[in-house]
Amino acid sequence: GAGNGFQTLVLVKPDAVQRRLVGDVIGRFERRGFKLVAMKLLQADRGLLDQHYQHLQQKPFYPALLAYMTSGPLVAMVWEGYNVVRSTRAMVGDTDSAKAAAGTIRGDLSMHVSRNVVHASDSVETALKEIGFWFQRDELVAWECGDSQYTYGP
Ligand code: GDP
Ligand code: MG
Repeated sequence: GAGNGFQTLVLVKPDAVQRRLVGDVIGRFERRGFKLVAMKLLQADRGLLDQHYQHLQQKPFYPALLAYMTSGPLVAMVWEGYNVVRSTRAMVGDTDSAKAAAGTIRGDLSMHVSRNVVHASDSVETALKEIGFWFQRDELVAWECGDSQYTYGP
């Protein structure tokens, strides 16, 4: 169920790349203690976004969302760690940046729902599907982070 996720998909959206916020966003997940297992900069195309946002295709804002998400390159990442799906959602904050709490990524770095800086998968099931949309299996790197006994305890 949600909350026990091992890996999640995070996108640093095109507005954040243009605004040079990539390092800030990555730094927050790094400092929290999560492990980066995949990352790439790419220009997303419509086919990929139609899959990723399948559940939103009937929404009135979908054309605007497509235009936004294809407006420039974005950074796709997979982060791993304890409770990662739920914790990254909490770090990202409310979908509507105007309502997002201070201290969250959206609450600190953005103003409006249509330019809300990041995506993070909303459940373990969604994360599994989304990682498959954005990454090939061999793009995920299995590695041991040397500080895990300090991050998690014995
Ligand atoms: P998320 O999981 O918090 O990203 O939110 P959703 O899955 O509900 O929506 C996906 C994305 O669609 C959001 O992150 C926004 O980029 C965009 N979006 C959602 N609602 C609106 C809206 O009312 N207007 C516009 N322009 N974009 C929206
Ligand atoms: Mg969503």
